[in-house]
Amino acid sequence: MESARDKRTREIVEAEDLWLLDSVDTEGYVCWGCGITMHPAAWEKDKKVRAYFKKKRHIQHHHECDADADADAESTVIRQGQKASVRNILDSAPGLMPSGLKLIENRPVVELGFSGDESKSSSTRSASSQSGEDNSPERQSRRQVNAIRNICRAFIRFPHDRGMSLNVPGISGKIYMTAFKKLRNEVQPYPEPKIFYAPLLWNKFTENDENLIIPLSGEWGEDESGKPKPTRSYQIYIDWASWSKAKRTVVRKELEAARTEAIEAKGKGLKDKAWVFFICEQHAANP
Ligand SMILES: [Zn+2]
Repeated sequence: MESARDKRTREIVEAEDLWLLDSVDTEGYVCWGCGITMHPAAWEKDKKVRAYFKKKRHIQHHHECDADADADAESTVIRQGQKASVRNILDSAPGLMPSGLKLIENRPVVELGFSGDESKSSSTRSASSQSGEDNSPERQSRRQVNAIRNICRAFIRFPHDRGMSLNVPGISGKIYMTAFKKLRNEVQPYPEPKIFYAPLLWNKFTENDENLIIPLSGEWGEDESGKPKPTRSYQIYIDWASWSKAKRTVVRKELEAARTEAIEAKGKGLKDKAWVFFICEQHAANP
Protein backbone atom coordinates (compact mmCIF):
# COMPACT_ATOMS: atom_id res chain seq x y z
CA MET A 1 0.00 0.00 0.00
CA GLU A 2 1.12 3.52 -0.71
CA SER A 3 -0.15 4.94 2.59
CA ALA A 4 -0.73 3.88 6.20
CA ARG A 5 -1.69 5.45 9.51
CA ASP A 6 0.96 6.60 11.97
CA LYS A 7 0.10 4.98 15.34
CA ARG A 8 1.18 7.98 17.37
CA THR A 9 -0.10 10.95 15.37
CA ARG A 10 -3.11 9.07 13.83
CA GLU A 11 -2.29 10.79 10.53
CA ILE A 12 -2.26 8.98 7.20
CA VAL A 13 1.23 9.18 5.72
CA GLU A 14 2.55 8.36 2.28
CA ALA A 15 5.33 5.81 2.25
CA GLU A 16 7.46 8.09 0.09
CA ASP A 17 7.35 10.71 2.84
CA LEU A 18 9.24 8.35 5.15
CA TRP A 19 12.33 9.49 3.30
CA LEU A 20 11.87 12.73 5.27
CA LEU A 21 12.48 11.03 8.60
CA ASP A 22 15.87 10.50 10.20
CA SER A 23 14.71 7.26 11.77
CA VAL A 24 11.69 5.15 10.86
CA ASP A 25 9.71 3.16 13.44
CA THR A 26 9.07 -0.09 11.57
CA GLU A 27 6.35 -1.05 14.07
CA GLY A 28 4.76 2.40 14.08
CA TYR A 29 2.19 2.08 11.29
CA VAL A 30 -1.18 0.42 10.84
CA CYS A 31 -3.58 -0.12 7.94
CA TRP A 32 -5.88 2.92 7.79
CA GLY A 33 -8.78 0.62 6.90
CA CYS A 34 -8.61 -2.14 9.52
CA GLY A 35 -5.72 -1.42 11.88
CA ILE A 36 -3.43 -4.39 11.23
CA THR A 37 0.26 -3.52 11.51
CA MET A 38 1.84 -2.38 8.27
CA HIS A 39 5.60 -2.42 7.91
CA PRO A 40 7.46 0.19 5.89
CA ALA A 41 9.43 -1.39 3.03
CA ALA A 42 12.20 0.06 0.89
CA TRP A 43 12.18 3.27 2.92
CA GLU A 44 15.93 3.34 3.63
CA LYS A 45 17.60 6.35 2.08
CA ASP A 46 20.03 4.23 0.06
CA LYS A 47 17.22 2.26 -1.61
CA LYS A 48 16.45 3.27 -5.13
CA VAL A 49 12.99 1.74 -5.35
CA ARG A 50 9.91 3.48 -4.03
CA ALA A 51 8.91 3.02 -0.43
CA TYR A 52 5.64 1.24 0.36
CA PHE A 53 3.86 -0.48 3.26
CA LYS A 54 3.39 -4.23 3.50
CA LYS A 55 1.65 -6.55 5.95
CA LYS A 56 3.08 -9.75 7.40
CA ARG A 57 2.35 -12.58 4.99
CA HIS A 58 0.31 -14.69 7.43
CA ILE A 59 -1.86 -11.78 8.56
CA GLN A 60 -4.85 -10.79 6.42
CA HIS A 61 -6.72 -7.49 6.27
CA HIS A 62 -10.09 -7.73 7.99
CA HIS A 63 -12.64 -8.82 5.42
CA GLU A 64 -14.40 -5.46 5.43
CA CYS A 65 -11.20 -3.43 5.15
CA ASP A 66 -11.67 -0.44 2.84
CA ALA A 67 -7.96 -0.08 2.24
CA ASP A 68 -7.71 -3.63 0.96
CA ALA A 69 -10.84 -3.24 -1.18
CA ASP A 70 -9.62 0.13 -2.44
CA ALA A 71 -6.31 -1.28 -3.54
CA ASP A 72 -8.10 -3.93 -5.65
CA ALA A 73 -10.73 -1.54 -6.99
CA GLU A 74 -8.08 1.06 -7.71
CA SER A 75 -5.98 -1.15 -9.91
CA THR A 76 -9.10 -2.10 -11.92
CA VAL A 77 -10.12 1.54 -12.36
CA ILE A 78 -6.60 2.53 -13.32
CA ARG A 79 -6.49 -0.20 -15.98
CA GLN A 80 -9.86 0.90 -17.38
CA GLY A 81 -8.89 4.56 -17.19
CA GLN A 82 -5.98 4.04 -19.56
CA LYS A 83 -8.42 3.08 -22.34
CA ALA A 84 -11.54 5.19 -21.73
CA SER A 85 -13.15 7.69 -19.42
CA VAL A 86 -13.97 6.40 -15.94
CA ARG A 87 -15.34 9.73 -14.80
CA ASN A 88 -18.43 8.30 -13.08
CA ILE A 89 -16.13 6.33 -10.77
CA LEU A 90 -13.62 9.15 -10.26
CA ASP A 91 -16.41 11.55 -9.28
CA SER A 92 -17.24 9.46 -6.23
CA ALA A 93 -13.74 8.23 -5.30
CA PRO A 94 -12.14 10.67 -2.90
CA GLY A 95 -8.46 10.18 -3.67
CA LEU A 96 -8.10 8.99 -7.25
CA MET A 97 -8.65 12.28 -9.07
CA PRO A 98 -7.95 15.07 -6.56
CA SER A 99 -10.06 18.22 -6.90
CA GLY A 100 -7.21 20.53 -6.06
CA LEU A 101 -4.14 21.43 -4.08
CA LYS A 102 -4.26 22.79 -0.56
CA LEU A 103 -0.84 23.32 0.96
CA ILE A 104 -0.55 22.67 4.69
CA GLU A 105 1.95 25.42 5.24
CA ASN A 106 0.33 28.76 4.70
CA ARG A 107 2.98 30.24 2.48
CA PRO A 108 2.32 33.57 0.80
CA VAL A 109 1.46 33.32 -2.89
CA VAL A 110 4.62 34.12 -4.81
CA GLU A 111 4.21 36.86 -7.37
CA LEU A 112 5.06 35.47 -10.75
CA GLY A 113 6.40 38.68 -12.21
CA PHE A 114 5.31 38.07 -15.79
CA SER A 115 4.16 41.36 -17.23
CA GLY A 116 0.66 41.33 -18.66
CA ASP A 117 -0.39 38.37 -16.57
CA GLU A 118 -1.62 40.36 -13.59
CA SER A 119 -5.33 40.07 -14.32
CA LYS A 120 -5.09 36.34 -14.80
CA SER A 121 -3.28 35.58 -11.56
CA SER A 122 -5.57 37.76 -9.48
CA SER A 123 -8.70 36.13 -10.89
CA THR A 124 -7.16 32.77 -10.15
CA ARG A 125 -6.69 33.79 -6.56
CA SER A 126 -10.22 35.04 -6.03
CA ALA A 127 -11.58 31.87 -7.61
CA SER A 128 -9.61 29.73 -5.20
CA SER A 129 -10.68 31.72 -2.15
CA GLN A 130 -14.30 30.90 -2.97
CA SER A 131 -13.77 27.19 -3.36
CA GLY A 132 -14.91 26.53 0.20
CA GLU A 133 -18.39 27.75 -0.68
CA ASP A 134 -18.76 25.39 -3.59
CA ASN A 135 -21.43 22.89 -2.64
CA SER A 136 -21.64 20.92 -5.84
CA PRO A 137 -21.74 17.18 -5.14
CA GLU A 138 -18.58 16.70 -7.17
CA ARG A 139 -16.55 18.81 -4.76
CA GLN A 140 -17.89 16.94 -1.76
CA SER A 141 -16.73 13.57 -2.94
CA ARG A 142 -13.37 14.40 -4.50
CA ARG A 143 -10.77 15.63 -2.08
CA GLN A 144 -8.01 18.19 -2.07
CA VAL A 145 -4.47 16.97 -1.51
CA ASN A 146 -1.43 18.50 0.17
CA ALA A 147 1.14 17.95 -2.58
CA ILE A 148 1.04 17.78 -6.36
CA ARG A 149 2.26 14.16 -6.40
CA ASN A 150 -1.22 12.63 -6.46
CA ILE A 151 -2.51 15.26 -8.88
CA CYS A 152 0.27 14.42 -11.36
CA ARG A 153 -0.32 10.71 -10.84
CA ALA A 154 -4.01 11.19 -11.70
CA PHE A 155 -3.06 13.19 -14.80
CA ILE A 156 -0.99 10.25 -16.06
CA ARG A 157 -3.39 7.51 -14.98
CA PHE A 158 -6.58 8.94 -16.43
CA PRO A 159 -5.77 10.53 -19.80
CA HIS A 160 -9.44 10.40 -20.89
CA ASP A 161 -10.65 12.34 -17.86
CA ARG A 162 -8.56 15.46 -18.10
CA GLY A 163 -11.72 17.55 -18.48
CA MET A 164 -12.35 17.18 -14.74
CA SER A 165 -11.99 20.21 -12.49
CA LEU A 166 -8.72 21.02 -10.77
CA ASN A 167 -8.01 23.95 -8.51
CA VAL A 168 -4.33 24.68 -7.89
CA PRO A 169 -3.83 28.15 -6.41
CA GLY A 170 -1.76 30.38 -8.70
CA ILE A 171 -2.08 28.09 -11.73
CA SER A 172 -4.06 29.21 -14.76
CA GLY A 173 -6.45 26.54 -16.03
CA LYS A 174 -9.26 25.05 -13.98
CA ILE A 175 -9.32 21.54 -15.44
CA TYR A 176 -6.54 18.96 -15.63
CA MET A 177 -6.18 19.48 -19.38
CA THR A 178 -5.42 23.19 -19.13
CA ALA A 179 -3.62 23.31 -15.78
CA PHE A 180 -0.81 21.11 -17.13
CA LYS A 181 1.61 22.03 -19.89
CA LYS A 182 4.26 19.90 -21.51
CA LEU A 183 7.50 21.66 -22.38
CA ARG A 184 8.12 21.78 -26.12
CA ASN A 185 11.54 20.95 -27.51
CA GLU A 186 11.86 24.45 -28.95
CA VAL A 187 13.09 26.62 -26.07
CA GLN A 188 10.50 29.35 -25.61
CA PRO A 189 8.87 31.53 -22.97
CA TYR A 190 5.90 30.19 -20.99
CA PRO A 191 4.13 33.28 -19.66
CA GLU A 192 1.22 31.44 -18.06
CA PRO A 193 1.69 29.69 -14.70
CA LYS A 194 1.10 25.96 -15.22
CA ILE A 195 2.10 22.62 -13.78
CA PHE A 196 4.85 21.92 -16.30
CA TYR A 197 6.14 18.50 -17.21
CA ALA A 198 8.91 17.02 -19.29
CA PRO A 199 10.61 13.66 -19.70
CA LEU A 200 13.24 13.04 -17.05
CA LEU A 201 16.55 12.38 -18.79
CA TRP A 202 19.00 9.68 -17.79
CA ASN A 203 21.68 12.31 -17.15
CA LYS A 204 22.83 12.78 -13.57
CA PHE A 205 21.64 15.77 -11.63
CA THR A 206 24.13 18.36 -10.46
CA GLU A 207 23.96 20.08 -7.12
CA ASN A 208 25.62 22.64 -4.92
CA ASP A 209 24.65 24.45 -1.71
CA GLU A 210 22.29 26.74 -3.57
CA ASN A 211 20.60 24.52 -6.14
CA LEU A 212 19.71 21.09 -7.34
CA ILE A 213 19.89 21.29 -11.13
CA ILE A 214 17.86 18.86 -13.25
CA PRO A 215 18.77 18.72 -16.93
CA LEU A 216 15.87 18.48 -19.39
CA SER A 217 15.66 18.09 -23.14
CA GLY A 218 15.57 20.93 -25.63
CA GLU A 219 16.74 21.85 -29.11
CA TRP A 220 19.03 19.78 -31.27
CA GLY A 221 21.46 20.89 -33.92
CA GLU A 222 24.40 19.34 -35.73
CA ASP A 223 28.09 19.50 -35.04
CA GLU A 224 30.67 20.04 -37.85
CA SER A 225 30.54 16.40 -38.87
CA GLY A 226 26.75 16.47 -39.13
CA LYS A 227 26.08 14.46 -35.98
CA PRO A 228 23.10 15.56 -33.89
CA LYS A 229 23.97 17.37 -30.69
CA PRO A 230 21.94 19.30 -28.13
CA THR A 231 22.19 23.05 -28.59
CA ARG A 232 19.87 24.73 -26.12
CA SER A 233 17.98 22.92 -23.39
CA TYR A 234 15.90 23.56 -20.32
CA GLN A 235 17.12 23.06 -16.78
CA ILE A 236 15.16 23.07 -13.56
CA TYR A 237 16.86 24.93 -10.72
CA ILE A 238 15.51 23.99 -7.32
CA ASP A 239 16.53 26.72 -4.91
CA TRP A 240 17.22 24.67 -1.82
CA ALA A 241 19.61 26.97 0.05
CA SER A 242 17.24 27.19 3.04
CA TRP A 243 16.20 23.51 3.05
CA SER A 244 17.06 20.96 5.72
CA LYS A 245 19.27 18.02 4.83
CA ALA A 246 16.27 15.68 5.18
CA LYS A 247 14.15 17.68 2.77
CA ARG A 248 16.96 17.77 0.21
CA THR A 249 17.33 14.02 0.55
CA VAL A 250 13.61 13.42 -0.13
CA VAL A 251 13.62 15.35 -3.37
CA ARG A 252 16.90 13.85 -4.53
CA LYS A 253 15.70 10.33 -3.69
CA GLU A 254 12.40 10.73 -5.46
CA LEU A 255 14.08 11.99 -8.61
CA GLU A 256 16.71 9.28 -8.51
CA ALA A 257 14.04 6.61 -7.97
CA ALA A 258 12.15 7.82 -11.04
CA ARG A 259 15.32 7.95 -13.10
CA THR A 260 16.33 4.44 -12.03
CA GLU A 261 12.84 3.10 -12.79
CA ALA A 262 12.98 4.57 -16.29
CA ILE A 263 16.39 3.03 -16.99
CA GLU A 264 15.20 -0.35 -15.68
CA ALA A 265 12.00 -0.16 -17.73
CA LYS A 266 14.05 0.37 -20.88
CA GLY A 267 16.22 -2.60 -19.90
CA LYS A 268 13.09 -4.76 -19.68
CA GLY A 269 11.86 -3.56 -23.06
CA LEU A 270 8.97 -1.55 -21.59
CA LYS A 271 7.85 1.79 -22.96
CA ASP A 272 7.47 3.40 -19.50
CA LYS A 273 9.08 6.79 -19.22
CA ALA A 274 9.82 8.97 -16.22
CA TRP A 275 8.35 12.45 -16.16
CA VAL A 276 9.23 15.36 -13.93
CA PHE A 277 6.38 17.68 -12.91
CA PHE A 278 7.09 21.11 -11.51
CA ILE A 279 5.65 24.52 -10.76
CA CYS A 280 8.20 27.18 -11.48
CA GLU A 281 9.05 30.68 -12.53
CA GLN A 282 10.90 30.84 -15.83
CA HIS A 283 14.09 32.89 -15.94
CA ALA A 284 13.22 36.14 -17.70
CA ALA A 285 16.51 36.51 -19.62
CA ASN A 286 17.40 32.86 -20.13
CA PRO A 287 14.35 30.73 -20.87
ZN1 LIG B 1 -6.64 -3.24 6.18
